[in-house]
Amino acid sequence: MNNKEIARVFRVIADILEIKDENFFRIRAYRNAAGHIENLTQDLNDFNQAGLQDIPGVGADLSAKIIEMLKSGKLEYFEELKKSIPCGLLDIMDIPGIGPKTTKLLYEKLRIDSIDSLEKAARSGLIAGLPGLKEKTQENILKGILLIKQKPEKILFSYAQNTAENIISSLKKLKEIKQACIAGSLRRGKETVRDIDILAASLSAEKAMELFTGLDLVKDVIAKGPAKSSIRTKDGIQVDLRVVDPKSFGAALVYFTGSKEHNIRIRELAKKNNLKINEYGVFDLKTDKIAAAEKEEDIYAALGLSFIPPELREDRGEVEAAKIKKLPKLITLSDIKADLHVHSEWSDGNASISVMAETAFKKGYEYMVISDHSQGLGIARGLNPQRLYKQIDEIKTLNKKFKKFRILSAAEVDIKSDGTLDFSEDVLKDLDVVLAAVHSGFKQSSREMTKRLVKAMENRYVNIIVHPTGRLINERPRYEFDFEEVVKTAKDTNTALEINCYPKRLDLDDIHARRAKQEGVRISLGTDAHSAEQFEFMRLGVMVGRRAWLEKKDVLNCLSCEEFLKKIKKD
Ligand SMILES: [Zn+2]
Ligand SMILES: [Zn+2]
Repeated sequence: MNNKEIARVFRVIADILEIKDENFFRIRAYRNAAGHIENLTQDLNDFNQAGLQDIPGVGADLSAKIIEMLKSGKLEYFEELKKSIPCGLLDIMDIPGIGPKTTKLLYEKLRIDSIDSLEKAARSGLIAGLPGLKEKTQENILKGILLIKQKPEKILFSYAQNTAENIISSLKKLKEIKQACIAGSLRRGKETVRDIDILAASLSAEKAMELFTGLDLVKDVIAKGPAKSSIRTKDGIQVDLRVVDPKSFGAALVYFTGSKEHNIRIRELAKKNNLKINEYGVFDLKTDKIAAAEKEEDIYAALGLSFIPPELREDRGEVEAAKIKKLPKLITLSDIKADLHVHSEWSDGNASISVMAETAFKKGYEYMVISDHSQGLGIARGLNPQRLYKQIDEIKTLNKKFKKFRILSAAEVDIKSDGTLDFSEDVLKDLDVVLAAVHSGFKQSSREMTKRLVKAMENRYVNIIVHPTGRLINERPRYEFDFEEVVKTAKDTNTALEINCYPKRLDLDDIHARRAKQEGVRISLGTDAHSAEQFEFMRLGVMVGRRAWLEKKDVLNCLSCEEFLKKIKKD
């Protein structure tokens, strides 16, 4: 078990103890320890017994429990404790915003012991009238349940893609495999996926399956057959491999890339043209004569369409656009000339500006934006104006060293809850670029949050709103605000909106970014890199941008440094 899992066990123990009205100090001790463990930067596995006891909040008793979990992967005390309450109560406490107190009250007053019975009670209005609960609780419960139910797709794109690429590079070593490619939602670049689909072309499927099911990362083999095998990796991800005849690889790739909705749309189109399409090819409806099969491009051409990039295959108008040859020319990683959101060790990054600049330069970038946090974000060692001016000086010195690269001085300025900024205009005017972001007070009403964002954009120095919706994938939904209003203001004030490329953020997402583009708002890609390796996140942002139909002209990062500075000007 890792730190996070162990901290979670302690938190759940505290919750159960609270439901059971146990000693307040014991409950607090478990929560306390969980908090300290979550904040450790070192792996619990690396501590010896004495070291464990020295962790704040962890004494002899809890360190013994940690050791038991590290050794056996479970905790006997916890297993027993769970049996002492109805098991559905634990599920109920997983709903965001519902703690042990509410759970206990619901159980005692209404005998609610599962998410289902909770949902029923909330829908029939039983919860609203319960003494001891706030008026909004019923509404929040229903929202929370919805959030939990929408959660089945969970593996982050970046993680799934790395796993898939590892498998493919192993498969490609086999000379019997002619081609191997990611398929499914992962190929379409969805931000999270349920499983990984891989498609390979080979005439000896048996050998491919043998290799696949014997890979090091395999935990168990779910199914093994000549055409399809499924495994589960040690990280719990299901991977399906299909092996097809090289002659029909293109048709199979279209079929298994999906989406389902896209495939239905092209099937209808085929029918209209007296054709039929399936995983083996495109055929004449009457004569069964084959029109295309081997190459994906040929499949689309046979249907009278220009090639549709996988990221667009969601039935969001791409088939219609392909028919009239009006598909966008999507941005690619090689169009990117700059990273527009980079941190350094001046705030919470872990590398110097000079190291970050060297790395960006080696990647082929022409410039980058150093945007450390402002003073309000104490937790991230935000800069006060004095330190900011020192940083500006350092950037000036570094810029003299570079001939073909430029560092722009900026800041990621906190937007306070009333929409004012964490630096005065006197300071902001001295920066090349100003990024602004919401980092706290997420629970404001939609009206307040909209006003807050609008006010920030109306500031004449704010150029880019970064991670505009604040969501964290699998962790936190976006804060509530009127996106249309924000887009309109962004357009009116010439403020760009960011696609933050951090794997958990990808914010804006594809839908919102496309909407912004439609209204003529410029998009900025920022990795939010806190270390030199994290420049690699750019490819995730580009993927989101492609799903959002973005072209070079929509994206600030495709401009030269000079053009960029000109285009972001407000007046
Ligand atoms: Zn931020
Ligand atoms: Zn940042």
